[in-house]
Amino acid sequence: RERKRQEGVNLLELSASFFRERLKMPEGQQAREYLARRGLSEEVQRDFGIGYAPDDWEALKRHLSARGVAEAVQVEYGLLVQREESGRTYDRFRDRVMFPIRDVRGRTIAFGGRVLGDAKPKYLNSPETPVFHKGRELYGLFEARQANPRLERLVIVEGYMDVVALAQFGIRNAVATLGTSTSEEHLGRLFRMVDEVVFCFDGDRAGRQAASRALETVLPQMIDGRTARFLFLPEGEDPDTLVRREGPEAFEDRITCASPLSEFLFDQAARGRDLARVEERERFASQVLKAVSRLPQGMLKTVLLGELARRTGVDQSRFDALLASEQEAAL
Ligand code: ATP
Ligand code: MN
Ligand code: MN
Ligand code: MN
Repeated sequence: RERKRQEGVNLLELSASFFRERLKMPEGQQAREYLARRGLSEEVQRDFGIGYAPDDWEALKRHLSARGVAEAVQVEYGLLVQREESGRTYDRFRDRVMFPIRDVRGRTIAFGGRVLGDAKPKYLNSPETPVFHKGRELYGLFEARQANPRLERLVIVEGYMDVVALAQFGIRNAVATLGTSTSEEHLGRLFRMVDEVVFCFDGDRAGRQAASRALETVLPQMIDGRTARFLFLPEGEDPDTLVRREGPEAFEDRITCASPLSEFLFDQAARGRDLARVEERERFASQVLKAVSRLPQGMLKTVLLGELARRTGVDQSRFDALLASEQEAAL
């Protein structure tokens, strides 16, 4: 198993250096121009090992095969695609800027590739392979720990470009999920390293939905001493565009002022509801109580119930009783 992993990692490292080399060569010119247009310095490109997959159906295949890597292995690790009917193989990533995805030890385990223009799909990721599981990995985690081994807080953003742009401006504690929603496994890993996570999704509908899902997912992880906060960006902005527009100090301020979990929870439950009305207060309380029931036992749970009681004018013991009877029903 470990040998298998080693074989895969070698092949992925070979591919990563291939992409980096190609970015420097004449065929990489458009990609270099693209990265410059996106404002990425050569230094940050180097830190993140960014490269370029040439506009060629077999460039990587030739490179790896010449170094003795069997085609079947190249397929297994997602670098080649194999056509079902003919069995023919070709490079998965062509004419894309390549972001190596590294594990916590810095070994390349997969790639994300972005088109230079407006073609679809905008991003292409490696498929699931023996060493890459999307729901587990976070882009930028290795680089964040490299920059600061004593991290206290991590910011979760949506995209590769967000992580890299923030890093370029000196905000080196951002990580991105890989085109999936934040999973329990992601959060479990992050909370083993830091006590505070800040969710910072795009200022669009998808981003706000992602924040609501992240709230659901983070609730069971909120043991005492951990902090989760939510940073909402102005409409149409993502961390990349915003840090360029406002600069790193303003962005850091936004991180510092991000809403605590409790605030997001109460705001979300109260949104569009007139709490002077009994039935709307009932919906509000039900929604909050449902979230609170997913929290582990602890001070946060206790204090949130107290706050719910205060906001609804209902005695806290009534909520305690409701929670207890619900828990009993669930058993
Ligand atoms: P850019 O700034 O380069 O346009 P972005 O990161 O702002 O990219 P979004 O559209 O906000 O792009 O998407 C956020 C993230 O979701 C991407 O970084 C990528 O990981 C993932 N993603 C977006 N589009 C696709 C796609 N078509 N296929 C797979 N993943 C995607
Ligand atoms: Mn978006
Ligand atoms: Mn973007
Ligand atoms: Mn975006």
